[in-house]
Amino acid sequence: MENRNKEIANLFYRIADALEIKGETGFKVVAYQKAARVLEDLTQDVAELLASGQLAEVPGIGKGMAEKIEEYLKTGKIKRYEEVMKDVPEGLLQLLEIPGLGGKTIHLMQKELKVKNLDDLKRVIEDGSLEKLYGMGKKKVENIKKGIELFEHAQERMPIYEALTIAEEVIDYLKGAPGIKHISTAGSLRRMKETVGDIDILAAGKDGRKIIEYFVKHPKTIKILAEGDTKGSILLDTELGHRQADLRIVEEECYGAALQYFTGSKAHNIKLRGLAKDKGLKISEYGVFRGEKKIAGKTEEEVYKVFGLPVFPPEMREDRGEIELALEGKLPEIIDATDIKGDLHVHSNWSDGVMTLEEVADHGKKLGYKYIAICDHSQAAKYAHGLSPDRLKEQIKEIDQINKKLKELRLLKGVEVDILADGSIDLPEGLLKKLDIVVASIHSGFKKNVTERIIAAIKHPLVDIIGHPTGRLISGREGYDVDIDKVIEAAAEYGKILELNAYYDRLDLDEFNLKKAKEKGVLIAIGTDTHYAHGFGMMRFGVGIARRAWLTKSDIINTLPLDKLLKLLAA
Ligand SMILES: [Zn+2]
Ligand SMILES: [Zn+2]
Repeated sequence: MENRNKEIANLFYRIADALEIKGETGFKVVAYQKAARVLEDLTQDVAELLASGQLAEVPGIGKGMAEKIEEYLKTGKIKRYEEVMKDVPEGLLQLLEIPGLGGKTIHLMQKELKVKNLDDLKRVIEDGSLEKLYGMGKKKVENIKKGIELFEHAQERMPIYEALTIAEEVIDYLKGAPGIKHISTAGSLRRMKETVGDIDILAAGKDGRKIIEYFVKHPKTIKILAEGDTKGSILLDTELGHRQADLRIVEEECYGAALQYFTGSKAHNIKLRGLAKDKGLKISEYGVFRGEKKIAGKTEEEVYKVFGLPVFPPEMREDRGEIELALEGKLPEIIDATDIKGDLHVHSNWSDGVMTLEEVADHGKKLGYKYIAICDHSQAAKYAHGLSPDRLKEQIKEIDQINKKLKELRLLKGVEVDILADGSIDLPEGLLKKLDIVVASIHSGFKKNVTERIIAAIKHPLVDIIGHPTGRLISGREGYDVDIDKVIEAAAEYGKILELNAYYDRLDLDEFNLKKAKEKGVLIAIGTDTHYAHGFGMMRFGVGIARRAWLTKSDIINTLPLDKLLKLLAA
């Protein structure tokens, strides 16, 4: 439901933006923006409101907007939207995708500086004319520059969640291909980087041509980009957008060498090539060779064994010292998905989640978890129906009731409490004491004294964990204005835990900050921050990033059995 409200809100925002691009101001624009904001804040489904005849009475909506909403719900379209969009040039519409750039500014840039597209925009930034434009100035231009960077970054790469979802669907399909033997993801996708450039799939089979023929017939193919005997490339129309997938077929005897080679990274492979050279060997995607003779290639194990090396977890293959350590027999054993005993950040329908507490428990049981921390929002998070102290008290009681019935799994009484503008915590101490786990997060004031506020929260005796410590969103938002090194130091000093928020668009802390935290001895909690059942699956991305940071079982608190976890949190 939230989605439908949000979809219509987005359309209204875009109409307002498009009107502004065309130079319209005032009443009409404001009406769309206002209606969009109202829709975003609405707690009820617009369809329900419409059905009960109350929609037009919602302040800020009115009759005209209600009609457009009805049109959308019935036809999936808003005619006005299409009309408005029709005469906005493509290049200018694209500029709207740049964070920090609105319709009004785009209109002015077009009128005064003849900006028609992204290239033009870059030009007027470069030659300084944008800065001189009325109402602009240095700071705004800096922000737009950052926005362009983020936009271009998002264009280039897709989030790991997207890439893996599509890849796994294709792999599932390919299992039905004639004569297919082995199949795997490759490249940065297999190495679980937070964003991925290409969906690379590698397979071994007898008749490459036939497998490729089968591949390009994938039901979601909208365009065949390449179709050969060993390589194919298709454009897929998926729920997640148009995405390209590439398949390469090799012979079974070469599969291990090819998988090793195409998994990369480039830097890791260069190191390996150096080792081969030292031994008078050659390594390629076809195998390891002494002169003409192939001495390994069928499996990755075989390939690495030639050099006295183990099969590295793909996440470690970045030439960050893994080869040297392995040669000394000192490669650390990184965390495995099976080490995870529970999820430490889950929202229920008591705040902005959709699951009841019982449903959360049911899903946890299915996942084989021993515990799940219920961490609904506190009251400051109004947009998320944050819990008042009284509501939280009620929730605690209910969790106690549910736990009486549960055997293999325990719901932990927790909260995701807001860190307020002055660095204080949005709940009284007496109540915090009743909880098993307290996650404190910043949800507003992203530019205001964030470092100081987080450190104040770290010093609070009843806060256990800092949630999504940098606030960055991979798809766009840059994160808080925070000195993360200072936060890590404070966490180390006060013995507090930092979160690895496993939601694919957050992955916060990221792999580099996780590494820093580990070096300072700071413990990490992985939580999916899920608001719906499907989101429990995000844990794998959190684990992937933890593996990329070389975290071990002992670095992560949700590998502990329940009694030890509770003891640690109580300490
Ligand atoms: Zn949060
Ligand atoms: Zn949360």
